[in-house]
Amino acid sequence: MIRIEGLHKWFGAFHALKDIDLDVARGERVVICGPSGSGKSTLIRCINRLEIHQRGRILVDGIELTDDLKRIDRVRREVGMLFQNFNLFPHLTIMENCTMAPIWVRRMPLEEARKQAMHFLERVRIPEQADKYPVQLSGGQQQRAAIARCLCMSPKIMLFDEPTSALDPEMIKEVLDVMVDLAKSGMTMLCVTHEMGFAREVADRVVFMDGGEIIEANAPDDFFRNPRSDRAKLFLSQIL
Ligand code: ATP
Ligand code: MG
Repeated sequence: MIRIEGLHKWFGAFHALKDIDLDVARGERVVICGPSGSGKSTLIRCINRLEIHQRGRILVDGIELTDDLKRIDRVRREVGMLFQNFNLFPHLTIMENCTMAPIWVRRMPLEEARKQAMHFLERVRIPEQADKYPVQLSGGQQQRAAIARCLCMSPKIMLFDEPTSALDPEMIKEVLDVMVDLAKSGMTMLCVTHEMGFAREVADRVVFMDGGEIIEANAPDDFFRNPRSDRAKLFLSQIL
């Protein structure tokens, strides 16, 4: 589903991603972790072209990301992305947030879009919030609404960038539960997170990054029990 080969990214003179190779198969769940500034966000932002890489290749479902806007558009239609700060449209209700793209991008009839939105709002367990505005929801509810909004576009892949790190502890679990549910439904997922419980429960692989490089990538059990590099050992000792 995602193939990354020899990827390099510079911000000016700063070498942010160094020769990244990563394949994510259909239905696979990969967790990316690593210290602050190691390039995790930059890497997943490259996958839907929020950042532009300078060397190497990124293919999403067989489509190579280049300057071609049509391809970028095709890739973005297949890839849902969740950020730390929910990014809901503040002036639209939750229902409108969920129906806007299906109506305007997919040309879905209004009634069908509303039905679909309700289906996914039920799935993330906030159907009663449909007519509220984002500020009227808790952080955990907003993040679940953002997940529902993503699902309304029927993505083939979902990218998560620390979706729970802005949440109060009591809200983290409700969002993680929804993510576990998604993982179990077979969604292809690439998640930057430090929620190691989540990684243990659903990840097929944990990728550890440091200094813009992938230092190691292993099955969660293996990674947690037997980190190979000193950097991963140090990192795990700080977060576990
Ligand atoms: P965190 O855990 O804090 O979110 P991260 O692993 O996601 O960190 P990135 O945000 O990918 O790290 O940043 C990697 C490096 O690239 C950092 O040193 C950062 O300062 C730098 N960087 C990121 N975005 C830009 C930018 N737009 N311009 C210049 N440098 C940037
Ligand atoms: Mg980041």
